[in-house]
Amino acid sequence: MSEKTFPLTYDELKDVVKKYPTPFHIYDEKKIRATLRALNHAFRWAPKFRNQFAVKALPNPRIVQILHEEGAGTDCSSLAELVLSDVAGVKGEEILLTSNDTPADEFQKAIELGAIINLDDISHLDYLEENAGLPKCLCFRYNPGDLMEGNDIIGKPTEAKYGLTRGQLFEAYKMAQDKGVKRFGLHTMVASNERRTEAFLFTAKLMFGLAKELQERLGIHVEFLDLGGGFGIPYRPEEDPLDLEAIGEGIHKLYDEMMVPAGLGDVAIFTECGRLITGPSGWLVSTVIHEKKTYKDYIGLDSCMANLMRPAMYGAYHHITIAGKESQPCDHRYDITGSLCENNDKFAIDRMLPEIEIGDLLIIHDTGAHGSAMGFNYNGKLWCAELLLREDGSIELIRRAETLADHFATLTGFDGAMMGNK
Ligand SMILES: *Cc1c(COP(=O)(O)O)cnc(C)c1O
Repeated sequence: MSEKTFPLTYDELKDVVKKYPTPFHIYDEKKIRATLRALNHAFRWAPKFRNQFAVKALPNPRIVQILHEEGAGTDCSSLAELVLSDVAGVKGEEILLTSNDTPADEFQKAIELGAIINLDDISHLDYLEENAGLPKCLCFRYNPGDLMEGNDIIGKPTEAKYGLTRGQLFEAYKMAQDKGVKRFGLHTMVASNERRTEAFLFTAKLMFGLAKELQERLGIHVEFLDLGGGFGIPYRPEEDPLDLEAIGEGIHKLYDEMMVPAGLGDVAIFTECGRLITGPSGWLVSTVIHEKKTYKDYIGLDSCMANLMRPAMYGAYHHITIAGKESQPCDHRYDITGSLCENNDKFAIDRMLPEIEIGDLLIIHDTGAHGSAMGFNYNGKLWCAELLLREDGSIELIRRAETLADHFATLTGFDGAMMGNK
């Protein structure tokens, strides 16, 4: 079980809404810090443990700054994410560029920042060298293929576009050695929203085996093993959160059995958790603006799937509560809709909730990862604001709402004044 809470009382929320109109995402600094600390604690045994926060989960430099204060680095996969890391104060090898179909300018930026580069294919090594040069510390992403089953979100490793096969992996490290690279890491990412402890132990075992083999076959003593992200969260109240301590302890045991006797007891462990760290610490707050009764009962919000894509895109469950009605019985059945001209713009279908009235503040839970981050402008819908609830209880605006002027800013040949530019 996981209790679905919201960090403000109804009265406090009403005050916030007076100053910052809905819709907005609000993030809880205290809870974000506590979650990263819990992960750090579970891996406290590991040499130089670091979570490389996957910036794509919540690409706001203020959040990255807070996580950096707690010891996190970043995992980036675009130019914007590299720049954002730098701006947030994450420097040099605290930044990891996990590349895949990466253009030259992103590799160049990573080299300029002194980041570690994680390559997705053997052919990218020459491309990197020719277009940007080689980093001091290089990593390759392993795709375990048939060794792993995969799941619905991430799919089967054999069908995934990411990573090198086992055979290519050894060839790639050899090529990099021949090019003069001396420092190496090894990466894999084969989970998404995974909540089974065994899955993480399986990955760790695979990686420890490979680290030993790299040492035996090529004399490479990797500096770090990056186990990737994919640590799951309980979106539904009846689901359990991950047992981080059990995962940490399980991996610790394997490390002692496999790595330490092989003389690899100094190898750092990295994770790349995004969702785990910020997901449960974010909420999308909207106002109910319409109720429509036809074949079904529809509640219309002032937000839409442009503010939170997951339910419409993946059919993902996000818990919903009505501010001030938390203890009322859920005896009404609603579809909760947004305003996009797409029939799938629904945050929930046939959801049992307390009776809803126009003007109610509706809270969608667990939007702190891949919420605002997956925002888009289809239908000319604008990005909403992001607020940070500070540890001292104050509210900080960390992204203002997008305006029409922002939205039209890239159009040419029209009168800006008519399009919201003042
Ligand atoms: C998306 C992604 C992550 C983060 O995944 P979470 O599910 O947010 O933990 C980490 N690493 C890579 C390479 C990714 O693509």
